[in-house]
Amino acid sequence: MPAIKEIMQTMEYGPAPEGNAEVKAWIAQRKGGFGHFIGGRFIDPDGPAIDVVNPATDEVIGRVAKGDAGDVDAAVKAARAAFPKWSGLSGYDRARYLYAIARHIQKRERFFSVLETMDNGKTIRETRDIDIPLVARHFYHHAGWAEILESEFPDHKPVGVCGQIIPWNFPLLMLAWKVAPALAAGNTVVLKPADLTPMTACAFAEVCAEIGLPAGVVNIVQGDGGTGAAVAGHPDVDKVAFTGSTGVGRIIREQIAGSGKKLSLELGGKSPFVVMEDADLDAAVEGVVDAIWFNQGEVCCAGSRIIVQEGVAPRFFEKLNARMATLRMGDPLDKTMDVGAVVSRKQLERIDNLLKQGELEGATLHRAPVDVPKRGAFCPPGFFTGSAPSNTVSQTEIFGPVATTTTFRTPDEAVQLANDTRYGLAASVWSENINRAIDIASRVKAGVVWINATNMFDAAAPFGGYRESGYGREGGRAGMQEYLTLGWEKAGKVRPAPAAAPLVVPFVGKAERPEIDVSAKLYIGGKQARPDGGHSYTVFGKGGVAVGQAGLANRKDVRNAVEAAGKATGWGGVTAHNRAQVLYFLAENLAQRRAEFAAALALTGSSPKPDDEVELTLRRAFWYAAQADKFDGAVTATKSRHVTLTVNEPLGTVGIVCPDEAPLLSMTSLILPVIAMGNTAVAVASQAHPLVAARLYQVLETSDVPAGVVNLLTGERDVLTRTLAEHDDVAAIWYCGSAEGSAAVEKASIGNLKQVWTDRGVLRDWRDPRQGQGTEYLRRASQVKTIWLPYGD
Ligand code: NAD
Repeated sequence: MPAIKEIMQTMEYGPAPEGNAEVKAWIAQRKGGFGHFIGGRFIDPDGPAIDVVNPATDEVIGRVAKGDAGDVDAAVKAARAAFPKWSGLSGYDRARYLYAIARHIQKRERFFSVLETMDNGKTIRETRDIDIPLVARHFYHHAGWAEILESEFPDHKPVGVCGQIIPWNFPLLMLAWKVAPALAAGNTVVLKPADLTPMTACAFAEVCAEIGLPAGVVNIVQGDGGTGAAVAGHPDVDKVAFTGSTGVGRIIREQIAGSGKKLSLELGGKSPFVVMEDADLDAAVEGVVDAIWFNQGEVCCAGSRIIVQEGVAPRFFEKLNARMATLRMGDPLDKTMDVGAVVSRKQLERIDNLLKQGELEGATLHRAPVDVPKRGAFCPPGFFTGSAPSNTVSQTEIFGPVATTTTFRTPDEAVQLANDTRYGLAASVWSENINRAIDIASRVKAGVVWINATNMFDAAAPFGGYRESGYGREGGRAGMQEYLTLGWEKAGKVRPAPAAAPLVVPFVGKAERPEIDVSAKLYIGGKQARPDGGHSYTVFGKGGVAVGQAGLANRKDVRNAVEAAGKATGWGGVTAHNRAQVLYFLAENLAQRRAEFAAALALTGSSPKPDDEVELTLRRAFWYAAQADKFDGAVTATKSRHVTLTVNEPLGTVGIVCPDEAPLLSMTSLILPVIAMGNTAVAVASQAHPLVAARLYQVLETSDVPAGVVNLLTGERDVLTRTLAEHDDVAAIWYCGSAEGSAAVEKASIGNLKQVWTDRGVLRDWRDPRQGQGTEYLRRASQVKTIWLPYGD
């Protein structure tokens, strides 16, 4: 008789398919195909349509309408019409609807899981255990935000009509991530699902109708990229929320530049999976299964670059090969399958081409010894060894079940390799040494870091990217902010036409011409610097009288200033207490020179009450000094036996373009929050009143602000702005100027997808602490990193 061990080893899995009769019947009832859901009505598809294919069987399982500009317009109109009433409901009333959606999804969990699997090709194990439960969790969580909105976000309002565009890899989950916070905040939405996976959105529309959600609150327009472009570009859309590829994210940023639309982008990734030599290797191998083979690797935050410490690498790869051999690939409706089909034949071809490229570039591809089904788009899982960090497969998102691998020797090298990417969505760190793991987590440039875990999601945990992985967060408090706006922000007069072009003269230092009252230099890397081009411009004050000269910076000066700021990023690593001390010192030094600043302001003729402006500047400096160690993160309630931290991290170097109004107050109101949060700044002072900048750098020099943390330039605003906006080492840019200038900055920001905030040429009252100061500035000056830390054995 065979021993039990032998039986266990030779046992075969029998087929265990999940029934799909209910879903088939549901589809059959809609023989004519699936149309849009607009204004609470299901619109019959008549016109161009798209075939919906089950990628695991190659069968066409339905047809879906391909929306055009007219359909999008009808949906936006319906959303606009529904907005006043929906946003006017109390949070309590809105919460009832969100709870009802959550409950209905829970009731139909099995149906949704099967439908998602048939539409996308992902396994039923994943749709049943991950996608759909998380969808319900998202609606419950956000029902809660609706309930407590008024007390948690005082002074905030919904943005309006939101255009939301989602990808195909987590169709219903991405819908939930978009729709739930938007509705909780009081917005109405027009959502466009991916054309490859439109089905669960149709079923979701039915849930909206079933629970009696008011007509027009949720509108769904089906279609392809053209339909998406119509949604993003519609003039009556107030906010665009996009999840998809970085390429399309750039197109959208450029398309809506200057429109004043709020924008959040959740884009691609090439996330590192770092295995230290003291990691529990078996656990880390299981981690790889969840990191890159989960969902066929079609995961934006997939751990697609495995980085292993040299000493354990051979053992780790051996274990990985052994584990890979146990994976089962096949019918995704079969409950015993680990790997299903990729989303389409086209996607399979794209993956295959990249894998060939990897081999051509010299890497070795290891694949799971699985039987590939004859029908369908199946891609055996695998991993590369010998892939150099510069190889195409190490840099390009494969979006399939194959990771690259590299080895490292020291933790520093691990961090360097982890950050060797233009993306920054997520990272996973494996080590039994918690000190080391957290140290690496803090140094990796990514929006989400999992320690000894991977691909964990929760509605309370903000999710989103650094760098070219986009900006904005989904989930938790930070996610809610994306769908809210400060009540007063849209009001305000338009700034008058820009000041006349500067009167350019050769730069002459004060020592050379003592009769010149003020001749301001630039301030770069902690030193006063003559402008590179050797020119200055005449500054006119009260009554049009020439009051001095200011350096005329050029592109080279901007580049020098950005370089100096880049060298000072250690400022982000000092303690918040330390930064607060420096800011207090700066405030005190400003206070000592009160009279001097007031006199300089009086000379400009721009400040009706110079003493008041100086006083307010002082208060603001003390306020940001106080906030420097208080605007901090939180521990969020996600899964049990997890501490999930949200940490506010600096962005890097921030370009600041100052307005002409209240030149001292506005300049300091912009610079102080930026440096309080640990960023470095390159600020272009008011073009019309630049001389106060010279006095400010004298204060910086005496206040222990490290060299390079604040760099001050004077000159032609829009010329300097352009260089700043195009510079890849500038992480964010804040611009106060004209409406046209705002549009130009947004357009020019797409290179490295820097975070942009502009005032769209609308004046704000810098004296009003609600408008000129506040946590909104600190929020904008930082990015949330979410760190997941499991505990227990
Ligand atoms: P994609 O960018 O091609 O398409 C995403 C969506 O945008 C689809 O609905 C598509 O129809 C639409 N679209 C295409 N062109 C458009 C245009 N010009 N204007 C407006 N909409 C347009 O991406 P995809 O192939 O569907 O999805 C894969 C990508 O999504 C990957 O890069 C992945 O990393 C990313 N992704 C990111 C996240 C995240 O949260 N960061 C989550 C999931 C997927």
